[in-house]
Amino acid sequence: QTTVELSGRTRIITVSNQKGGVGKTTTAVNLAAAMASVGARVLVIDLDPQGNASTALSIPHNADTPSVYDVLIDEFPMADIIQTSPESDLLTCAPSTIHLAGAEIELVSQVAREHRLRTALDDYLEQVEEKPDFVIIDCPPSLGLLTINAFTAAHEVLIPIQCEYYALEGLSQLLGNVRMIQKHLNQGLRVSTIVLTMFDGRTRLAQQVADEVRAHFPKEVLATVIPRSVRVSEAPSFGQTVIAYDGQSAGAVAYREAAVEIIERDSAPAPTEGGA
Ligand code: ADP
Ligand code: MG
Repeated sequence: QTTVELSGRTRIITVSNQKGGVGKTTTAVNLAAAMASVGARVLVIDLDPQGNASTALSIPHNADTPSVYDVLIDEFPMADIIQTSPESDLLTCAPSTIHLAGAEIELVSQVAREHRLRTALDDYLEQVEEKPDFVIIDCPPSLGLLTINAFTAAHEVLIPIQCEYYALEGLSQLLGNVRMIQKHLNQGLRVSTIVLTMFDGRTRLAQQVADEVRAHFPKEVLATVIPRSVRVSEAPSFGQTVIAYDGQSAGAVAYREAAVEIIERDSAPAPTEGGA
């Protein structure tokens, strides 16, 4: 059993990439479960109307379930919607429901529409006794108000990059959006972590993409690479993360190593000013 040193403050990380199918949800839930498996308390916020993160964590999220929709639109307290995953007492989830699909449009006419998640999360973190070490937000693939709410609430952006052709496509747009958020809504936001995922070591292309991303983002890319693995892709159909489904599989081992890297990066000394 790995043990890690936790900082004692809550790190809010949004998992974002404007491309669909790059492994955002898979990375969000498996990293969260891996963090919990080494003793961290983790809250996953499912901001995607598809609710894949809620499903993967085995959290009921039918149309009647109180969800992030109620928090964003009707100002429900976050504590009223959070459920605990059957996998671990340390792993909780604020589920999404299909109603969230309408929130994108309903938010447009709301007061403080970009800050609703942040306000709800701040209130929750102030009141809850056992504060999460990590809040991990799973975003939809578009830059709508849901994603903007995630960017506004977060300290860090984690970008999963699929080691395939066109991997870097859209990345400069994403970085541009982060800069726009920094300028207007959340000065403290930073791209802290890039995770290379669905890596197939048998192809030269995967290696080339990995090398290229590392050359561009030497500090952000995790040393750990997530391999393409059938166990990772089949775990959600059993309502489990790969950590619970097959903890010895290559995917589970990689997500645990990635989790430890992320946790330990934070306790490392802060980079010197002007380094970036
Ligand atoms: P996104 O949330 O960015 O749309 P998903 O996390 O849903 O992407 O992943 C897209 C698809 O790729 C899913 O079918 C998922 O099971 C699969 N997948 C993600 N990561 C891996 C992996 N490491 N190995 C195999 N399949 C993966
Ligand atoms: Mg997803």
